[in-house]
Amino acid sequence: MGIRVRFAPSPTGPLHIGGARSALFNYLWARRNKGTFIVRSEDTDLERSSRESEHNILEALRWLNIQWDEGIEVGGEHGPYRQTDRLALYQDYTNKLLNSGHAYYCYCTEEELEQERQALIAKGETPRYLGKCRHLTSEQRAVLETEARKPVVRFRVPEGQAIHIEDQVRGDVVFESDGIGDYVIVKSDGIPTYNFAVVVDDTTMNITHVIRGEEHLSNTPRQVLIYQALGLSAPTFAHISLILNTEGGKMSKRDGDTAVMDYQKKGYLPEAIVNFIALLGWAPSGEEEFYTLDELAEVFSLDRVSKSPAVFDIQKLNYINAHYIKEASLERLAELALPHVQEMGILPPGERSAEQQQWFISFIEAIFEKIAYLAEVKDFIHYFYGGVPLKPEGEALEVLRGEQVPAVLALFREKIREDELLSGTTVKVLLKQMTKELKLGGKFVYMPVRVALTGQMHGPELYDVIPLLGRENVLERLEVTEKRYLK
Ligand code: GLU
Repeated sequence: MGIRVRFAPSPTGPLHIGGARSALFNYLWARRNKGTFIVRSEDTDLERSSRESEHNILEALRWLNIQWDEGIEVGGEHGPYRQTDRLALYQDYTNKLLNSGHAYYCYCTEEELEQERQALIAKGETPRYLGKCRHLTSEQRAVLETEARKPVVRFRVPEGQAIHIEDQVRGDVVFESDGIGDYVIVKSDGIPTYNFAVVVDDTTMNITHVIRGEEHLSNTPRQVLIYQALGLSAPTFAHISLILNTEGGKMSKRDGDTAVMDYQKKGYLPEAIVNFIALLGWAPSGEEEFYTLDELAEVFSLDRVSKSPAVFDIQKLNYINAHYIKEASLERLAELALPHVQEMGILPPGERSAEQQQWFISFIEAIFEKIAYLAEVKDFIHYFYGGVPLKPEGEALEVLRGEQVPAVLALFREKIREDELLSGTTVKVLLKQMTKELKLGGKFVYMPVRVALTGQMHGPELYDVIPLLGRENVLERLEVTEKRYLK
């Protein structure tokens, strides 16, 4: 049997960067080993789970191009792939554990448990279940049943056992069973808990490797004990490190977006996100830092996954995204950029002519090397769509006060009128000629022209700005600037 791995999100919210990384590492490990990647849903938290979240998570995986071979919406031999559709199976396994004495019914009430907790805390001990219902006789049970108490099922944790986990990332990790109180495996409403259901799922789906976040390491001994009780061998575990922010704290909303689809909305490219999250905890052996999904599938290995925390650095993501933006076709970029300008009421759907479409592509061509993600087109579109008069301020206003400015703008107007083509190339020549004719350094010519046309000191190249504005707009902006700002 080949390698079988899984991604098992709880559909209680969107897919976060950490979840996407778990999915990606599992996917890559499967691809690398010609194995099978499964996606299933851990939806036993009935209150917080929703089909909508499940849908959003799957949508995010598809956007990242992380495809699964088996699982939700795809099907397969080991389904169903949602925990709430597998309750009968958990019941079978619960019976096995009850019959073999590895599990028992516990009738303790919330209040009783809370009292026990408080008492242990007061004594300075770790709160845990002390096993009050461990040895109930059937008579005692019958009495408790008549009190209409709804029992939970607890796992009977063996005493004095060292539980070894050969973690592929963290090495040999040992837990003492004595620190673990008998834990609930089925709640009083009949719903299994995570630690139990995950074992049933992993074993019945023949999972060979469990690759997941470090936050689950402390759950692992609880899962291993259940495998042992069932006489099964546990899969191989690999716990990948936490993702921290650049200050070393836990990643949170304050550090920027944590949901994958927020990046899609901002105009990040899926191949950039994949490349970026692959590097969160995994490192290639060479210097190369850009990898496509297919390339990653060839080189990914668990032994290059690091034990130390990964750092989420948005600058790095922007750098990677800018790289993929430069590689993408202008048509694709234009399509991805369009919704962002439409948000500003520019180029609304249905009203776009072929000419405008072409204009937009030229616009993208002029600015794509200056942006890190596509929402940033908004910082450039206003050069062309902003209303006149422009309102230069501060330094920009200072530029217009230069004594050479009236002559510069007058000559510029003349040249623009003469330039029939008004293309990037002709404009470049025209600007150069101006510096020669006026015997002025480039800065003294280009800056006033730039400010007169855009109101700003910075922006796309002038030889792109001028053709994109078009002759009419250029002349209009010149005239308005001269009237308002030159004496
Ligand atoms: N539902 C768990 C989570 O989202 C999955 C844990 C596991 O992979 O075992 O973190």
